[in-house]
Amino acid sequence: MLYWTRTLIVGFFCRCPKCSKGSVFESFFVARKVCPNCGITFQPYFGDSAGVMGLGYLVFLPPGVLLAFLAGYYLKWSPVAVFFTFAVSSTVLLLAFYRNMKSTWIAITYLMTGLRRYL
Ligand SMILES: [Zn+2]
Repeated sequence: MLYWTRTLIVGFFCRCPKCSKGSVFESFFVARKVCPNCGITFQPYFGDSAGVMGLGYLVFLPPGVLLAFLAGYYLKWSPVAVFFTFAVSSTVLLLAFYRNMKSTWIAITYLMTGLRRYL
């Protein structure tokens, strides 16, 4: 259990889930293909980015809904303003934490498969 927690935390901070030293990203939005330290392939499976989007929605949908609810209920904003509150807050959160979600997804994939090419 401690190993899983450590691996997820290392992944959240954009480090390689195997060696904890290599950076997952080469620029703000572009992930590396392999770890510069240990050489493990970060995304060996086609369609890995779908999991990142799912994880992003799972994590950032509830705060967006909460902010929209608060804007509508307490501030008495119009439905259009509430919708834009939801859209803007969800988008800003997703963009701000995209790197963390992507590298966390890579860590989850590492825990499930070991990032092996063929299982
Ligand atoms: Zn590594």
